[in-house]
This record gives sequence, C-alpha cells and structure tokens, in this order.
Amino acid sequence: MTKVRVYDGAETIGGNKIYVEENKKGVFLDFGMNFAKYKVYYQEFLFDRSARGIYDHISLELIPRLNIYRKDLIPSDLDISIFPSLNVEAVLLSHAHMDHFGNMGLLDENIPIIASPSTLMLLKAILDTSSAKVGSDVAYFSERLPDDKDDRVLKADRRKLSKYKGRNFICTKGFSEPFKEFILTSVKKQKQIEAGHICTIDDCSTPFEIKAFEVDHSIYGSTAYILEGDSTIAYTGDFRLHGKRAEKSRKFINEAKNASILIIEGTRTSRKDINESEEMVFRNCLEAVEESKGLVIADFSARNFERLETFKEIASKVGRTLIISAKDAYLLKALEKADGVDRTKDILIYKELKAVRYNWEKEYLKKEINETAFIDPTRISSEQDKYLLCFSLYDMKHLLDIRPEYGTYVYSSSEAFEEESEYDFIRLSKWLEAFNFKIYGYEILEQEGRDKPNFIKGYHASGHVSQNEIRWAIETIDPDVIIPVHTQNPEWFANNFYNTVLLKDGQTHTL
Ligand SMILES: [Zn+2]
Repeated sequence: MTKVRVYDGAETIGGNKIYVEENKKGVFLDFGMNFAKYKVYYQEFLFDRSARGIYDHISLELIPRLNIYRKDLIPSDLDISIFPSLNVEAVLLSHAHMDHFGNMGLLDENIPIIASPSTLMLLKAILDTSSAKVGSDVAYFSERLPDDKDDRVLKADRRKLSKYKGRNFICTKGFSEPFKEFILTSVKKQKQIEAGHICTIDDCSTPFEIKAFEVDHSIYGSTAYILEGDSTIAYTGDFRLHGKRAEKSRKFINEAKNASILIIEGTRTSRKDINESEEMVFRNCLEAVEESKGLVIADFSARNFERLETFKEIASKVGRTLIISAKDAYLLKALEKADGVDRTKDILIYKELKAVRYNWEKEYLKKEINETAFIDPTRISSEQDKYLLCFSLYDMKHLLDIRPEYGTYVYSSSEAFEEESEYDFIRLSKWLEAFNFKIYGYEILEQEGRDKPNFIKGYHASGHVSQNEIRWAIETIDPDVIIPVHTQNPEWFANNFYNTVLLKDGQTHTL
C-alpha cells in the first residue's frame, strides 16, 4: 500500500512538505517554508524567535504538528510527544530555494537529506553567508541548550570546544574531494563542524529505490525524483522547459512514463501563458545593453546562475566586464566544488566600503580568488562604460560611492504580485532617477489612483513550466493519478485531467 499525504504546499506556491509512505516507512519530498503562512503573522522585524526553538512554529501551525523535530529545539513548556510520529527515513530535497528547504533544519538530525551535490554546496554557502534562522540551518547547526535559569529559553551552544553538527547527507551522485572538504569547512574560527555521515544514493539504503534527475529551473542543482516501491511515484519539484537545460527536464519526463502517481508543480496555472524563454531574455537584454552609454546595471535574483551566465555573455559581447557581489562569488565558488566548473573567470567582485568583513569573505573567498578581481567603486566611477554591474534595490546605497553620471538599468526578475513589493519599485525608481538611469523591464505608471510598476515582458523568463508544457508533461507521463502541488490554482488540473486528485493540506491519497 502506498500513501501520499500532503502536509503543506497543496494550495500555495511553496512550502512543499509531502510525505510518501509504504509499509510504514516513508520519505518527505521537500520540507520548505510556507511563505503565505508566515506572512499571516510575520513581517520584517517581526519573526519567529530562535530562543524558543520550534515553540512558535508549532503554536502558529507554521509546521505540521508531528513528533519528528530536533530534540534540542523543544523548550520545557512544549510537549510534542502527544503528536503522531512518522517513520521518516529521509527527506528528498528538490532544490535550494527557501520554499523547499526553509523548515528542513527543524527536523530530527538523524533524518538524512537526499540532494544533489550542487544543492548541498549551495545550502552550505547560503548558510555561511547569512545570519541563518533556525530552520534554514540545514548544512550544519549549533545545538541549542536550555538556559540554566529558565529552561523555556534555548541558547546556542557556545561552550568551549563545542562544534557545529553536520547533518547526514545522501548525494544523488558521486561527490569530489573539494565537496567533502567544503562541507566540513567552518567559516567561524572558534567553532569546527563535526561531520555527519555522507554517502551516495547507490551505497546507502533508502525505503524506495530512488532515481534522481537534474532538471531545468531558476537555480542550479534542481532535481526531480522517481521513487520505485510497490508503485512508482514521480515528483517534479520545480521545473521548466524553456531554459538552457530544458533537455534535462525532458529526459526526466520521458523516464517518468507510466508512473502510478505524478506529483507535479503548477506555479503558472493561475496566470495566462506567455511566450518566454531564456534565449529571448538574452536577445532583449543584449539589445538594451548595446544601446547603453555609461554604467549598466542588471537586476536579477542572486541565485539565478543561469541568468548570471546570460549577463556574462552579454557583457562580453559588448566589451564590458561583469561585476558581482562577494556573496555571489562565494556561491559560485561553492558550486564549483560540486561540478568543477569555474564560473568566476573573467568576472570582477564589487569591493563594498564597509567596516566589518566576515570570515567567509576575508579568509575563504580571498583564498580562492585573486586580490586583483576585487574592484573598488572609484575605479568603476572612472570607467563607467566598461562594466555591467549586478545590483538590485538593496545595493542602491553603493551608487553613492560609484556616483554614476547616467546609465541603464535592466530589470530581469519576477514581477511584483503584492502591494507591499510594489512600493519597492517606487523606491528603486527614485534611486535610478537620482542617478539618471534609463530603465528597461518595468515602468512606473499611475494606475487606480496611485503609482504602480508596470512590467514589460521579455526581460525575464519564469523558472516554472507553462500550462502548455504541463499538459505535454502529463500527457507524456500518462500517470494513473495526478497530485498538483505548489500552485494557487489546483482546480486547473482537475478541469483539464480527469485523473487529478486534489489533496488539501493534511489529506492523504492511498493507492
Ligand atoms: Zn524554486
């Protein structure tokens, strides 16, 4: 008997937590953060308290009420033993986006994580370079100890000689020496990482026979899975068919033929299909950059490495050099440990004027990247038409140091779907106005009595499959049952395919 239970992510974009079980043994497909649920209660400066472990998450039902979490995150005034415990043998992670991994760090540390080497390198690098919140500290974590005076309060273990705990990982394919070394490299001088067990999918036992397939999405390392047990289950994760790696997604779809259950993402089922591709983004952005004089800024999601490569190609075509942030460079170096590709070649790194440099930047990045690759704002200022700078709204403050006279701004990222983020574009435009930038990709128009961004198509391509492509994928696989997830419009599937099973969060399908 095979059971699929969607604990979370059925009717929203992200937060996937899907449990698949056979003979009382199971695996989770992703364990991401459900942004929609968090947003109900939280906003910037109002968030869950690390010192209370999973108390806040459980109280507000941000995570399923189950007995599967790290023991050190349970304060004295919370009893999770009253909740059902599951026999979770592993978590299969599809890719390194928060809505897929953001709650994974809360899970019992004995549960191994299955992921591609690229995804694991990114998880590690993201954690190294950010002030991680409990939950997204997947690659390694600081054990929490109850406070001496009040055991409802949990504190990070800061005792001398204490170590970070590394999780147990099962890689979807073989990994290199640099991979092993990086996973154990602590960027904090005082504290080492104690290795977890690391193996590959072929030499570790798992409850299903698990086949992993790299797929095309807006982050490298994205993986789809086929689980073979009493029945065959295919899980797409997030994927698309219009990027440079589309062929890989097609291979997965073909391999998944005749699966009994297809669990598929439907991000774009609530919007009308538009014609888009990474190739089209390249052409339109190239045209914009070719016309430009002065400084050019490209704004795209930091972890969209394919887009980064698109702009690197554009830069070289027009005789400019790409400049990225130190954080992006660190992530690229991490990716290199997984696949051996040096992506920082011929790229410069922006030298921020700041008082404190973290260890990852000071020691580890400088060890791997030549000092001459770091570029000072003054130098950019003196040769503004030589560079293509990868900046977004949060980097606008650095324009005060570069002091461009004029330039071009290419917005190559997703549209704002919420009112709150619309205000960000008004603010962004104020910065760009102050430095005489011409904007491509969006404009500010007065709509419904206030200024709003209007996005111009062709400068960005989604990370997700279109409705037409979903149709093709489903028809090719021809599964017995379709379970849509990662969508605000699951009914689209039911309206188009008679064998759709609509599961709400917490509902189970048994085969
Ligand atoms: Zn994603």
